[in-house]
Amino acid sequence: MKIKGIESDALNFILKVSESTAPLEFAGLLHADNGVITEVIVLPGTESSSCSAIMRLFMMPNIKSVGSVHSHPSPNIKPSKADLQMFSKTGSHHIIVGKPFDEKSWKCYDRNGYVQDLPVIDSEINNDEIV
Ligand code: ZN
Repeated sequence: MKIKGIESDALNFILKVSESTAPLEFAGLLHADNGVITEVIVLPGTESSSCSAIMRLFMMPNIKSVGSVHSHPSPNIKPSKADLQMFSKTGSHHIIVGKPFDEKSWKCYDRNGYVQDLPVIDSEINNDEIV
């Protein structure tokens, strides 16, 4: 599936949850509808490292996702070695959020850990089109 972007509502949700979870890491999976990321499947009670928790979730047969999202409790949003390992196995789009969890403190990476463009799509404009 080609990903056109992420809905602003979904992104705002990610930023909010990341902020409220800090200094712990938040992790989840990205769900897309018609090529637009609209939903985040949050991992329940992540106690261990986020990456291994995501790996466990990907083993479940009935969860379809286009990639992952997780937060770093610091401003450093470069993927770690463990992140890269997880990226290569779990889809094409991977968002990392860092402090201070605003609209500029996140990046989307591809499965090789290279930054890729992920346009933010205004949810309201989307809804207007449906009406
Ligand atoms: Zn990480």
